Amino acid sequence: MKIEQITTLADRWSEADVAGGNGLDLLVYQSRLIGSEPQLVLWGGGNTSLKLEERDYRGRSCQVLRVKGSGSDLKAVEPRDFPAVRMDDVLALFEREEMSDEDMVEYLQFALLDPRAPRPSIETLLHAFVPARSVVHSHADAILALTNNTRSDAILNEVFGAELALVPYLRPGFGLSKLVGQAARTRPDLKGVILLNHGLITWHDNPREAYRLHLEMVNRAARYGQSVAVSTHPALTVPGPARRREIAARLAPLLRGLVSRQQPLVARFDDSEDVLRFVSGAVLGLERTRAALQAGAATPDHILNVKRTPLWIEPASLDDEQKLAQDTRTAIESYVEEYRAYFERYQQGEPMLAPMPRVVLVAGLGMFTLGKDSRSAGISADIAHHTFAIMERAEQTGAYRSLPPEEAFRAEYWPLELYKLQLAPPEKQLSRRVVLITGAAGAIGAAIARRFAAEGAHVVCADIDLPRAEELAAELTRAWPHNRALALALDVTDEEAVGAAYQRIQCEYGGLDVLVANAGIAHSAPLDTLSLEDWQRSLAINATGHFLVVREALRVMKAQGIGGSLVFIATKNVPAPGKDFGAYSASKSAQAQLARVAALEGGPSGIRSNIVNPDAIFRGSGLWSPQVRTERARSYGIDASQLEEFYRQRNLLHVNVRAEDVAEAALFFASAHSSRTTGSMLPVDGGLREAFPR
Ligand code: ZN
Repeated sequence: MKIEQITTLADRWSEADVAGGNGLDLLVYQSRLIGSEPQLVLWGGGNTSLKLEERDYRGRSCQVLRVKGSGSDLKAVEPRDFPAVRMDDVLALFEREEMSDEDMVEYLQFALLDPRAPRPSIETLLHAFVPARSVVHSHADAILALTNNTRSDAILNEVFGAELALVPYLRPGFGLSKLVGQAARTRPDLKGVILLNHGLITWHDNPREAYRLHLEMVNRAARYGQSVAVSTHPALTVPGPARRREIAARLAPLLRGLVSRQQPLVARFDDSEDVLRFVSGAVLGLERTRAALQAGAATPDHILNVKRTPLWIEPASLDDEQKLAQDTRTAIESYVEEYRAYFERYQQGEPMLAPMPRVVLVAGLGMFTLGKDSRSAGISADIAHHTFAIMERAEQTGAYRSLPPEEAFRAEYWPLELYKLQLAPPEKQLSRRVVLITGAAGAIGAAIARRFAAEGAHVVCADIDLPRAEELAAELTRAWPHNRALALALDVTDEEAVGAAYQRIQCEYGGLDVLVANAGIAHSAPLDTLSLEDWQRSLAINATGHFLVVREALRVMKAQGIGGSLVFIATKNVPAPGKDFGAYSASKSAQAQLARVAALEGGPSGIRSNIVNPDAIFRGSGLWSPQVRTERARSYGIDASQLEEFYRQRNLLHVNVRAEDVAEAALFFASAHSSRTTGSMLPVDGGLREAFPR
C-alpha cells in the first residue's frame, strides 16, 4: 500500500475528453475527476451537482438540480446516479426556518423529476441554495488538516482570506444548507465555503471552473505547513517485516475473538510504511500520537467506519506473548467500557451499536482494522491512512482537534444512518466468516469455494497448484470483489508451508471459522503390487496432510474462542472400502478417524467436526486421472468408458454424484444449520447400502 501524504493535486481536466459533452456529461466527468483523488473523497464521500434545464414527463421545460444520489461513489458515478430535483420545489424551502431530516428526505422524494430515480444526497438542499450552477463538495485531507486544528481560525484566514467563508460545524441537513445558501447569496464574490470539521465547497456557473477552483483551494491548503520540518526518529523500535507478521498473526485470532463475541468481524493487519511511522511515534512522538487519536475522527462521515476513536494498545513488550495477549484483553475491555459510558451519556433512546473498535493500533507493530467483511475492514483502513496524514499535518501547524464527543455521537447515531442499517439486506449464511479450503482447485474444492463465496464467506483457496488456485480466486473476486477470496500455494504435507499459509490468513482476515479439509489423491493398485512409495504418498497427503492443517485450525479457533467448523471431505470408501483401493481407503479412513478425534477435542470449545462421504465424482475431477479410471474399471471387470454408467447404476437413486452436491453437504456442516451436529458422517453417494453409516 502506498504512503498517504498530503500533496498538491494536478488539474486533470482535459477539454479533449469533454468536447461536445452536454450538461449531465460534464457533471459526470467532473465528478469522476473529484472521485478519483483519494485525498479529496473516500468511499462514497463528497458530492457534486449541476443546475440544468430539462423536460418533464409531459415535455415541459423546467429547471432542475442534478445532484449525486445517496449511496453512489463519485469515482465510478454514472449519469443515472444523478437524480434530477425540481428547482422551484426545493427553492421554496429556503424561506423555512427549520426542517427535520426525515421531512427533508420525504419532501425531496416528491420533488424528483423522475420518481424512479435514486434518492438524492442528504446535502441536496445545500447544492440547491447556492445560486451558482455547478457546486463541488469534498472532504479533502488538506482542508481537514487546517479545520481540525487548534489554530484553524488564524490559519484559514491567512490561507484563504475573504475568498472562502467559514461555516461552523453543523451536521449535514437543512440548517447547514441554509447557512451555506445565506453565505453564497449575501456575498456574490465568494468562491466557496469551508465547513469546519467537514470539508470544502466551491462553486461557479461553469463546471470546469468549479473544479479548478476546488483544486486551487485544496492545493493552497496542502502547501500550508508543507515546509515545516518533520522528525523521522521513531520513538519505538519496530521489528522487521517477518517478525512483525509473526507477532501480528499470533495476535490476530485473539483480537478477532475478543471483538466477535456477539457477531464475528474480520480483522485485517496493515503494516504499511505510513502506519508504522504513525504507530511508532516517528512523526509526533508517542504522547502527541495518543492525544491526537483521542481527539477523534476527522469528519462525522468517517465516524461511521472508524468509530469516534481507535483502540490504541501500547504493549510493554511485543516479544512476551502472554503479556501482549493480556495487554490486548485489558485494552479491549476498557475500550468497551468507555464506549458504553459515552453511549450512556449521550443516548436518547437509540439502541447501542456494537461497542467494539473498528481500528486497533498496536504501538510499534501496525494496525488491525475490523469490519463485517473485508470490504468494510478495507474502508476503515483507507480512512485511517488518511486520518494519520491529516493528524500529522495538523500537528505540524498547530494541534489536531476534532468534533466534541457529543457531536461525534450525533453523527454516529444519526437517524438516517441507522435507518440505512435497517434497510441492509439480511446477512447470508456464511457472512462474516473465513473459510480455508484445501485442494481448492479440484472439482469438489472449487464447487465448495463457489458455493461458500455466494453465501458471503471469505474464501481462502489453497492448492498445491497455485496457478489454478489463483484462477479460482480471481473468478470469485470478479463476482465478490474487495478481497473476498485469496489464493495460496499449499502442499499440505509440508509443516512449514502449512504454518506460513495460516500466518497469511491470520494477517489477511484475522483468523478462521471453517476449514474444509479436502486435499487428497487416489491411487489404485492391488495390495500385492502396491509399492511402499505409493502407500506412503497416500498416507502423507490423505492422512498426515489433514493432521497438519487441522492442528493449526484448532490452534487458531481455540485462540479465537468463538467456535468453528471442520468439514472433512472423505469418501464412500471409508465405510465401504474398494478392492484395489487399499492405499486410498486406508488413508482416507485415517482422515475420518482424525475428524472424529477433532470432534471429541473441539467440542468443549464449540468447534464442530463432521465428515462428508462422496462417491466418485467424474465431472471436472483431477482425482480420476485416466490411469485411475483404467485401474478402477479393471477392478470391476468393465471397460473404462462404462465407468460412469457403472457408478450410476450401482446406487439406489441411479444418479451420478456431482461436485455441487458435495458442496451443499459441506455448506450444511459449515453453517449454523448444523449447529447441533458434530462427529457425524453424511453420505453423498446416491444411496449405497454397503456405505450406510453405522
Ligand atoms: Zn460532506
